[in-house]
Amino acid sequence: MSLIKNLQKVSDIINTNNDFVIFTHLYPDGDGIGSLIAFYKLIINLGKKAFMICNSEMPYQYEFLPYADKILKDISEIPYKNKYISLFLDCSDIKRAKPDEENLKKNTSLIINIDHHLSNTYFGDVNIVDSNKSATAEIIFILFNKYFKHCIDKEIAESLYTGILTDTGKFQYSNTTKEVHKIISILLKYDINPSYIYSSIYENEPFNRFKLLELVLKRVRLVKNEKLIYSFILKEDFEKLNLPFSSNDGIIELLRAVKDIKVAALFKETDTNTYKISLRASNNGINVASIANYFGGGGHKMAAAFTKQGKLKEIVENLVEVIEKNCGNL
Ligand code: 5GP
Ligand code: MN
Repeated sequence: MSLIKNLQKVSDIINTNNDFVIFTHLYPDGDGIGSLIAFYKLIINLGKKAFMICNSEMPYQYEFLPYADKILKDISEIPYKNKYISLFLDCSDIKRAKPDEENLKKNTSLIINIDHHLSNTYFGDVNIVDSNKSATAEIIFILFNKYFKHCIDKEIAESLYTGILTDTGKFQYSNTTKEVHKIISILLKYDINPSYIYSSIYENEPFNRFKLLELVLKRVRLVKNEKLIYSFILKEDFEKLNLPFSSNDGIIELLRAVKDIKVAALFKETDTNTYKISLRASNNGINVASIANYFGGGGHKMAAAFTKQGKLKEIVENLVEVIEKNCGNL
């Protein structure tokens, strides 16, 4: 079904219902949190009720956003007596949000899925998925601007700007289209402050994050004729430095900057012998989403991730093998 038809359908659902629950994925990024808050505020501006859910700690980079302190961890905290509409934002798969699926099945009347990942599983009753869009926030802007323009305010504009800013790598990645810049120019009319948003996200680091950086850089390895670069962070590093998981944000982008590198990988231990592995491609020829897919994860062609259990050394070897097989001439 066409995207336009589904935008219309979602606007009808919003207009004819009153109770909403909005979800985003675990280990949320700026697009997940920005989309979540923008949608929440729109529903509130329409005089309806909404709750936000994210089953992970709140990254300090996004604490400055309005209503960030209202995000709940679990649907069991929701006081609705009647069935509600569920919206999943920036989730390629429903499992990315890790909802209590039994509770959800019992209490939700309809699931709406809005996302921009190519690997989206179309798990919703209504799906608005467009992998040509830079961010989920871009799709949400198109929906709001077409059907709810009168309800867009400064807080919504600030949240959508954050989603697009972060998912385009500060307007640097190949997904930074002329449509993106057009949308940004409209968002700027709502009197948002780009330098405040920039410094809140990118110049708000705890000092120990530099100690973490020191560790990551000390551990950097090059393999496969120096075409794959990787490093790792252990759970005990986060603990010893008293840093939250989100302090690793942006570090993999430093690894990708090395000349002639094709893939960068950062292994992050989330639990004993459980690693979240972020992958970045520095060259259009390598699709890291397909590599992440192989391991049960996903993402985009240039940025993807997966979770794997095991010993670090074995996971590294396994990844190198799969990269070799997938990109023979890496
Ligand atoms: P990051 O490395 O920044 O955590 O994630 C890079 C990209 O991969 C993002 O688009 C993110 O949504 C996606 N991603 C991260 N972790 C997972 C995962 O476990 N499963 C899937 N399907 N996608 C992921
Ligand atoms: Mn996104």
